[in-house]
Amino acid sequence: MRVVLLGPPGAGKGTQAQIIAARLGVPAISTGDIFRANVSGQTELGQQAKTYMDAGDLVPDAITVAMVKDRLAEPDAKGGFLLDGFPRTIAQAEQLRESLADLGQELRRVLELVVDEEELVRRLSGRRVVVDGQMVQRDDDKPETVRHRLQVYREQTAPLSGFYESEGLLSRIDAIGEVEEVTARALKALGVDDAGQPSSD
Ligand code: AMP
Repeated sequence: MRVVLLGPPGAGKGTQAQIIAARLGVPAISTGDIFRANVSGQTELGQQAKTYMDAGDLVPDAITVAMVKDRLAEPDAKGGFLLDGFPRTIAQAEQLRESLADLGQELRRVLELVVDEEELVRRLSGRRVVVDGQMVQRDDDKPETVRHRLQVYREQTAPLSGFYESEGLLSRIDAIGEVEEVTARALKALGVDDAGQPSSD
């Protein structure tokens, strides 16, 4: 099962990615998490990515695509994966399709988490994450950066919805409601039951 989770910042992609991937028995691969780990580890990749991330801009496609290719080549991703936060541009989507085709693989489905913008701003400005045991606000969740990230999403990432729709891969999921309700909608769109097995209806 190869799945992409699409949606604006604050739509709950990270939370849903963890739950859905666990049900499907595939790794959840978050490009944002990989970048953040590299920034804290002060690797060369982290240094390259940091300026873009702090500004709420996308890391250039060449850097991001190379990183994802390496990650998808790891053994745990051979049997499937759930991508969270990638692709984020049409160019990334095209490169993903090519890399998968080279391996004789293709995406099963793209789930787009849909939340209106007012709700996103509300969620993001209140969001806190745990770093070294402390609840802190992510630098890129500051109000000015949030607005910019939403604009970047509208301009560069939202077109992916039409791209995957025209390929017949897109399912739009209403992402307002309790976490379990949203998970249930996503699993239904994937045609699997609560335990990640193909559903009979
Ligand atoms: P996220 O945790 O998915 O919100 O990602 C945090 C930041 O990482 C984004 O604002 C971008 O700067 C960078 N990033 C994550 N995924 C990508 C991607 N697919 N392409 C470019 N930049 C990305």
